[in-house]
Amino acid sequence: MGKSLKAKLSFDYALIALLCVFSISILANFFLEKQFSNYIIKNQYQKNHDIVNSISNGFQSESKWNIGVIQNVGIDAMQRGMIVSVKDKSGNTIWDATEYNNGVCKSMINHMSQNMIKRFPNFKGGYIEEGYPIVKNSVKIATVKIGYYGPFFYTDNDLFFLKALNTIIIAVGIFSLLFAVILGILMAARLSKPILNVINTTGKISNGKYEVRINKNSDIKEINELTSAINSLAESLQRHEMLRKRLTADIAHELRTPITTLQSHMEAMIDGIWEPSIERIKSCHEEILRLGHLVGDLKQLTDYESENISLNKSDFNVSSLVGNILMNFQGEFRNKDIKLETWLDEDIIISADKDKIGQVIVNIISNAIKYTNEGGLIKVTVRSSGNDAEIVIWDNGIGISKADLPYIFERFFRADKSRNRKTGGAGIGLAITKAIVEAHNGRIYALSEENKGTEFHVLLPKNGA
Ligand code: ADP
Repeated sequence: MGKSLKAKLSFDYALIALLCVFSISILANFFLEKQFSNYIIKNQYQKNHDIVNSISNGFQSESKWNIGVIQNVGIDAMQRGMIVSVKDKSGNTIWDATEYNNGVCKSMINHMSQNMIKRFPNFKGGYIEEGYPIVKNSVKIATVKIGYYGPFFYTDNDLFFLKALNTIIIAVGIFSLLFAVILGILMAARLSKPILNVINTTGKISNGKYEVRINKNSDIKEINELTSAINSLAESLQRHEMLRKRLTADIAHELRTPITTLQSHMEAMIDGIWEPSIERIKSCHEEILRLGHLVGDLKQLTDYESENISLNKSDFNVSSLVGNILMNFQGEFRNKDIKLETWLDEDIIISADKDKIGQVIVNIISNAIKYTNEGGLIKVTVRSSGNDAEIVIWDNGIGISKADLPYIFERFFRADKSRNRKTGGAGIGLAITKAIVEAHNGRIYALSEENKGTEFHVLLPKNGA
């Protein structure tokens, strides 16, 4: 037993969400950290220049400095993590943050080092000092030294920002995970409902309820295709079941009539009611022949349909074959006063079993004669149709009803109108005809309208493939 669709989809969706969030957080951290440290390094450079500019404003005249201005700049820098000292051109200290408050300076550097180690356990950084000259009228008048933790450092605010970002990513991750599981469950419900419906219906079909059908109400193309495949399977099983029942009834019917006739005739002769005259014995013989014919037809059909048909192929002219067969039917056309019109294109050569194709043509023409009233018309055409030779046999006879038309190629099928002994056949002719055409990879179909006439089309590949 595999996993349920619900479990499988929820798990897969959750896995995809997890992978996405994981890769986003790794990439975001990597690139952001890189960009952020570059930004901080650049910013530090800018800050240093701003400090030097502000300090140069504290210069009043030759060796006179406004200490108040310098101290304000120094204290402000200290609050932002930088230790400033200013020396005049002779090297005398004008102002020095460590002298102003050494304790704060030391704890500040310590705090930064802790911040960085906390963030990057292997961080290789330390205290850096950079010197900048203050130049007035092309003369260097002082040097400013700025010390800080380098190559860069994160303030508490920076660290807070990075932590908040990771918290957001984790929150998004948890949310998408929940969302993925819910989506998986919903998707599974959408998918599994029609699938369960199919399982349920196929179960019923396998129990012989061929009339059940599945409603096509899914908006998923493949599910709709599946349900239509199951529906057409049920339809064809239902049709086969109906034909099977009909077949049994038909065989019984076909056998009963001659057997009953034979039995009553024989009994009458045995009981001395009837004189066993030649006529009576002949009539019994005819019934026996009819039975033998029926069994022979059935055997032939079974052989053809079970692909036991062996084709003795040769190249021959279909038009000539049709012409010869029509010649043999001349007597029957005359007897029923049926007019015949023919269009037989010349040089239509096919590679096929000539005898069996002859049987196909004979079957269709004899049906046309059988089901056409006296004084009717039959038209026979042989023509090329692409790679096929096409034989069309048209009649203006009794026609076939819409309800019967789909079944005429089934064995024992006879439309009600033709169900009488006068028209002879047992309803096997067209089944044999179809089996022969299909063994040649050909196609046969009929068009018909009741009381107007019927048209049979036989298409046979010329190369016999
Ligand atoms: P049958 O021996 O009864 O003619 P077929 O298998 O040859 O059996 O034909 C099956 C049924 O198809 C016939 O019983 C008849 O109802 C119908 N059919 C065949 N050909 C024609 C036709 N040309 N016109 C009208 N009905 C036809």
